[in-house]
Formats: sequence, C-alpha cells, structure tokens
Amino acid sequence: MSGPLVIPFFIPHQGCPHVCIFCNQRLIARQTAKEQSFDNEAQRLSAVIHTYLQFKKNRSQVELAFFGGNFLGLETSRILALLKAVQPWIRQGQIHSIRCSTRPDTVTQTALDLARPFGLETVELGVQSMDDRVLVLAQRGHTSGDTRKALALLRENGLKTGVQVMVGLPGDDDTGAVRTAEALAELGPDLARIYPLLVLDGARLAQWYGSGQYVPLSLDQAVDQTKKMVAVFRRAGVAVARIGLQATQMMEDAGQMIAGPWHPAFGHLVLSALMFDQACERIEAVLTGQAGREGIGKPGGKKSVVLQVNPRSLSRLQGHRKANLDRLAQRYPGLCFSIERVETLDPDQVRAHIFGGGC
Ligand code: SF4
Repeated sequence: MSGPLVIPFFIPHQGCPHVCIFCNQRLIARQTAKEQSFDNEAQRLSAVIHTYLQFKKNRSQVELAFFGGNFLGLETSRILALLKAVQPWIRQGQIHSIRCSTRPDTVTQTALDLARPFGLETVELGVQSMDDRVLVLAQRGHTSGDTRKALALLRENGLKTGVQVMVGLPGDDDTGAVRTAEALAELGPDLARIYPLLVLDGARLAQWYGSGQYVPLSLDQAVDQTKKMVAVFRRAGVAVARIGLQATQMMEDAGQMIAGPWHPAFGHLVLSALMFDQACERIEAVLTGQAGREGIGKPGGKKSVVLQVNPRSLSRLQGHRKANLDRLAQRYPGLCFSIERVETLDPDQVRAHIFGGGC
C-alpha cells in the first residue's frame, strides 16, 4: 500500500485573523464551539489518533496533519501545546511526521524554528491564486509575493511544501487559473490541492451571489479549469494530492452550500476528463500514422481500436457513468473501441492501437 496514512486533526479557522469572502463563518463558529466543548484538546487529539491508527493496515508511514486553520498563525503556546501532544506517538514510532496548513503570510523563520524540532516536515500553503487582483477581491489579506517568499523559506529549511489553490474565484477565469498553476509550478512545490469555489451559507460570497455580483462556475467549467491546472502541475512534476473537497466534515450539512460546482466525485470527473483528452491524442496519433484514416467512416470500413490502460485507471478511462466511451463513439464514428488492462502501464497513461480489420 503506497503513501502514508494521514491523520487529519481539524482546527477550523483557528489562528486566522482574516475573513475571506468564501469562508463560512457560521459553520466555523459552530465547529469551534464543538471543538471547545472538549475539556482537553490533547484528549480530542488522542481520540482522533486512536481512531485513525486502526486504518493503518500495512502502511509504513503515518503523518499527523493539522488542517482547517492557520497553524503557524496560532499563538506560540498553542502551537507548542499541539505539537507536544503528538510527541508520545512520535516517540513510540506510531507517528512519523507532522504536516500543517497555514497562510503564506504566517511562514516565518521564528515559527519554523519553533515547530521543526517537533517533527514538522510538510507545510501546505493556502495560496488560492497567484493573481494579486484576484487575491484582493477574495479579501485574502496576502499577496502572491507572500507565497513566493514562504515557499523559498520553507525550502531553505528543508521542509516539503504543498500549495492549495481554487478555481472559480471572483475576477478569475480560465487563463488566470492556468497562470496560477504555471506560476506555482515554476516555484516547484512538492504537491498541490485544487478545490472548486463553493458559495457557503454564512460567507460574504453568499451576499455577492444573492445580488448577482458573483456567478459561480458551472460543474463543466470547474472540471475544465481544474483539468488544465492539473495538466500544468503534472508536466512540472508536481504531485496533485487532491482535487475537490472531501465529502466529510465541511459538507456534512448539505444545507450550508448555496451554489457552486459541487460534485461528490469531482476529482474523478477531472481525472476522467484528462484521460479522455489523452485517449483522443493517442487515437489521433495512430490515425495519422501508418494506419491512416482510410476506411474510417466508409460503410463496413470501421476500424477497431484497442485502448490500453492500467487496471486501476479503468474507471477513469470509461468516465463517470461511461461518459468517455459515449463521447469517443460520437467523436470517432468510424472506430469501435475495446479496452485492454495492462498492469505495467503508468496509471496516468493510456495507449491506443488501431487495427484495420472490422469490429
Ligand atoms: S485564511 Fe482560511 S481560515 Fe482564514 S478566513 Fe480565509 S479561508 Fe477562512
């Protein structure tokens, strides 16, 4: 089994002095009240760790992740208390490292000197966009320059880096989203997460949506923009660790979402769209090769195409509810398709072979 077990410990909105337009303050207030009902935070942390360790199976690495807040923006005493609470598991070899998410403008040498000795190895930055105009509209309170500085400082300190970005921010578009991915890819983070912007009840964005000042992306637009960003990150060798929100905590209360491109399998839609594009490229390549286009579209002249894919990626190639197969049939009426599973293929790859014989 690859990849570490990541144990998420949520500290919603804590350590954050800002109110971004998309942040759901009402939900945060409710969650914060819930978190604070635990007398002892170490007790809550312990309960979460025990629960997750049951799912470790044969993974060799376990990582504790402080997500949902601005970890390095917490008060020093709070950062220390949280980090110290994890130490018993680190000493016993049950947890091997710590990661946190934080705002770019809270990454300082002082904060890193404080946290690194306790096992902090990865820092994920809430970047959202590399367009300063978009950041101002989102009322983020930091700039793309802060992100550049933070990534440089994290790298100087030997830490792994992650960037979290959004599609559908006010004032952003297709070109802007791709530019954000390109700017970040140049800075070489270790991983990226991409989320579609949703309009949540209690967020300032909800008022903008209500007055018509903000129009969310459609699901198709969000998938398309995200697909382009993933392609940029992949070309640069940046691992895309997550696409779309998890259908967990933040989405538990379905009523909180007012509008936006929410889909429970958003990541699958994006990866399927990427695989469709790749399949088309491969098919075009073999069609323009020696097999040629002759015979295609003529009565009885259908050619057979075998698409090869890693078994793990079969559902991506087929697409959501086999939508990719339908689209391939529409795009190439002179071809018929079959799929062959090839264990040795990279899961992000698809190959096409064309045969002159009929289907
Ligand atoms: S930085 Fe994060 S926690 Fe703070 S207001 Fe914005 S979205 Fe909410």
